[in-house]
Amino acid sequence: MALAGLRFDLSPEEVPTSWYNILPDLPEQVPPPLDPETGEPVSPEKLARIFSVELLKQEVSTERYIEIPASVREALVKYARRPTPLFRARKLEEYLGTPAEIYFKYEGITPTGSHKINTALAQVYYNKLEGVERLVTETGAGQWGSALAAAGAYYGVKVRVYMTRSSYIQKPYRRTLMELFGAEVYPSPSDKTSVGRRFLEEDPEHPGSLGIAISEAIEDVLSDEKAKYSLGSVLNHVLLHQTVIGLEAEKQFNEAGVYPDVFIGSVGGGSNFAGFTYPFIGRMLRGGEKARFIAVEPRASPSMTRGSYTYDYADSGRLTPMLKMHTVGHQYRVPPIHAGGLRYHGVAPTLSILLNHGIVEPVAYHQTEVFQAAHIFAKTEGIVVAPETAHAVKAAIDEALRAKEEGRRIVIAFNLSGHGLLDLQGYRDYLDGRLEDYEPSSLPVQES
Ligand SMILES: *Cc1c(COP(=O)(O)O)cnc(C)c1O
Repeated sequence: MALAGLRFDLSPEEVPTSWYNILPDLPEQVPPPLDPETGEPVSPEKLARIFSVELLKQEVSTERYIEIPASVREALVKYARRPTPLFRARKLEEYLGTPAEIYFKYEGITPTGSHKINTALAQVYYNKLEGVERLVTETGAGQWGSALAAAGAYYGVKVRVYMTRSSYIQKPYRRTLMELFGAEVYPSPSDKTSVGRRFLEEDPEHPGSLGIAISEAIEDVLSDEKAKYSLGSVLNHVLLHQTVIGLEAEKQFNEAGVYPDVFIGSVGGGSNFAGFTYPFIGRMLRGGEKARFIAVEPRASPSMTRGSYTYDYADSGRLTPMLKMHTVGHQYRVPPIHAGGLRYHGVAPTLSILLNHGIVEPVAYHQTEVFQAAHIFAKTEGIVVAPETAHAVKAAIDEALRAKEEGRRIVIAFNLSGHGLLDLQGYRDYLDGRLEDYEPSSLPVQES
């Protein structure tokens, strides 16, 4: 086959000039976040204490396209190294003996190794414009923390990160990376906040969760007027910033002369999935090309496949407004799987609506089968993917094998959200046969 069919690149000028906002194209409106104290939609003033004002505007905007500020677009090229390539996984196709074509968008080439820098740069930019001196956040695997730390270094804004304790222990190099960029990093639950101390009392070895780390970050922000909070997933504005992935991919599929039948992404809170698929889902919702969209999660944290669609807190300490989303409950203690970035109890409200309407299909896998898929990918394509991304790889392989059984020449596309070169402990455990598969027998009952 021609070499040209293996890789699709764009020039820097082809980085999108606007983000795509799915809100005006959704089949129903996103229910507003609720103030847990009053049960009413939360007031913008209250949220402005925690978030940048401009980001709050984007959160509720119903404009289909929102212009990317020149400074952010420049940073996406100069610092995040966009546009990212689209590749065809030819060796994987041959290995599987499938008639399907498999493509992947490679977000692993960014300096911190994942898609998270796409929103980090935008969030730091707006906060800096508004005079914020310090951003506080949570991180699971350390991908979001390192992206925000890198963006903070770019724009000269301080960053403090609460890192889930299980990752802090399993992924010491992520902490090193964050500290290299100048960020402060604490294991969560920590003794720095009252929420953290409460969970530590319950269990001094508590593995932590994204929900707990979010509570700690918010408590920290509320004690410092010059600080604001930054979230790496779930919220509309975060998903919005990630659409540069899908908007670039749209041009690249055009160049390749294909339109995928199936789009696949892993889901923690939903940002890389949305960033990759929403521009294509939007086309379908506006009457354009039809496709399947598969969202992949761990069976240990099954918010899409076993959660309920209800109002729930975004954090375990119940400091945040309540979001209507698919959730296994903010009290759910997520097992310490290696895909730290997927250890979250809920998913984005917009993704929840798409799930309700059957537009997005959810699937869940155990971590052993996910690592097996990542192993096949590493041996055939040479890229060691992040354990989060490995969930998408597993689904792509399953779809390709189904296409083989049915003899169908379909086109499969997945988002390779990040590389796993700082996740080798997980691969060590996999090779040594030390991975545990967790299946929650029951999920916490929702409080109302
Ligand atoms: C954080 C992360 C995810 C999961 O988060 P989403 O917001 O759902 O994208 C997936 N893959 C990688 C590499 C990550 O860093």
